[in-house]
Amino acid sequence: MTPHRGIWRSRLERAAGVLLHLLWPVTCPVCGRPGSIICRECILEVVEKGPGRECCSECLRPFPCADHPAAFPIKGLTTFGGLSRELVHSLKYGSRKCLGKPMGRLIGERIRPAGAVALVPVPLHRGSERAFNQSLEIAKGISGEWVCPVADRLAWRERRPSQVGLSAGLRKKLPRDSIAWKGKVDSDLPVVLVDDVCTTGATLRAAAGAVRAAGARVEGALVWALAGIS
Ligand SMILES: [Zn+2]
Ligand SMILES: [Zn+2]
Repeated sequence: MTPHRGIWRSRLERAAGVLLHLLWPVTCPVCGRPGSIICRECILEVVEKGPGRECCSECLRPFPCADHPAAFPIKGLTTFGGLSRELVHSLKYGSRKCLGKPMGRLIGERIRPAGAVALVPVPLHRGSERAFNQSLEIAKGISGEWVCPVADRLAWRERRPSQVGLSAGLRKKLPRDSIAWKGKVDSDLPVVLVDDVCTTGATLRAAAGAVRAAGARVEGALVWALAGIS
């Protein structure tokens, strides 16, 4: 390529970037590229190559767990730290709702279901000021990959402050009936719960309690990140 054509190309690329930014004012939260919710190469940098990790819903040690034969597996694509944590923060606190689906799609690509399932997101806390439920957005992304239904049917029974900032001990004390299923169970598909981050497993255990109380089976849980697990 002649230097002349190179200059024109870079000018054209810059102009296209500016235009994209005006039309669609988003930038990749990792590299800052305009017009991109998150670049494919950037999101791949955040996750490890494998299918993530699987832990026991009761003690968060590797699944299956000899101490808790009735536990379900919690599968996490990343560990909560670095860019994985930053993405969760920009999704939740930076109101970057659009990040939820690509994060979910990547979970769905890497972790495959054993059979037909329904995805059930953990509900947003009552009184939360967030305009959207990030777990529902992630579930929609997974559903796009798995081609399965999303049943947004769980709700907190009472106004409960966010788990953020609570000590691990207090989080673990979350009563198992804190979450309820809304309405009737309208499918006999086993349920896979979806959340953004698993810290102690207490919220997922409460969600599983609601699913079982409604008469459905919990097959497992999927999260973007496992926290507090070395
Ligand atoms: Zn990027
Ligand atoms: Zn266990």
